[in-house]
Amino acid sequence: MSPFSLEGKRALVTGANTGIGQAIAIAMSKAGAEVLCAARRDCDETLAQITRGRHVHLDLSDPMAAMPLFEAEQIDILVNNAGIIRRGTADSFSEADWDDVMDVNLKSVFFTCQAFGNAAFNAGRTGAIVNIASLLSFQGGIKVASYTAAKHGVAGITKLLANEWAARGINVNAIAPGYIATNNTEALRDDPERSRQILERIPAGRWGEASDIGEAAVFLASPAAKYIHGAVLNVDGGWLAR
Ligand code: NAP
Repeated sequence: MSPFSLEGKRALVTGANTGIGQAIAIAMSKAGAEVLCAARRDCDETLAQITRGRHVHLDLSDPMAAMPLFEAEQIDILVNNAGIIRRGTADSFSEADWDDVMDVNLKSVFFTCQAFGNAAFNAGRTGAIVNIASLLSFQGGIKVASYTAAKHGVAGITKLLANEWAARGINVNAIAPGYIATNNTEALRDDPERSRQILERIPAGRWGEASDIGEAAVFLASPAAKYIHGAVLNVDGGWLAR
């Protein structure tokens, strides 16, 4: 079997109804996995493009929401992709915009990893986690205080979990996507000035496609990445190399 195959594996992908999560679900299905597609809204558009999978209703504003899933069935691969962003200057950033983003983008990521890890340890299984970080795991950004704090946190807990779990059979890694054409970045692409500035800085000379992230996620979840622990893989067209 190819070391890049996910045949026989069951993956849970959060935020799989659109954007990057949808592309990860499709790529993992092509690699042979059964994919549980989690989101608040239905995942019909994604399910129509995958071979084996189903929708799982999940609202990650409750960071413990995913816990029962891991008790109910074997899940071999966890992709923490769901995320939100709130914009506002630091001098007036609201507590609600801080808490909402931290709950979905960081607290739920940690406790979903914890539930996945404990289920695997109790059953004596191995597994792989791929967390979706950001360029703002490394850079400060502007007007996105809670997003930047959460994404720095995602890089940090990815490394912490790798330190604790590498020897216990769980690979924990992250992907830092660059500027990817999804709903999340629609406002930036609609602003001609910002769009031009962003494109000028990307060595690859184009915005990323969600599928660019999907294929990287398959790699990190596959046996080919078995000796990779605690990595935050930039998939950014070279942005961070500038
Ligand atoms: P998107 O198109 O806005 O999709 C966000 C996804 O998150 C949706 O599937 C959404 O599902 C889900 N989600 C949001 N709140 C949720 C909640 N409370 N419970 C469950 N699911 C929830 O965003 P995207 O661009 O694909 O981004 C996906 C991930 O990549 C995020 O973590 C984002 O921070 C990261 N990222 C994106 C870029 C980029 O350029 N696009 C760059 C770096 C990092 P519902 O529709 O059901 O709410």
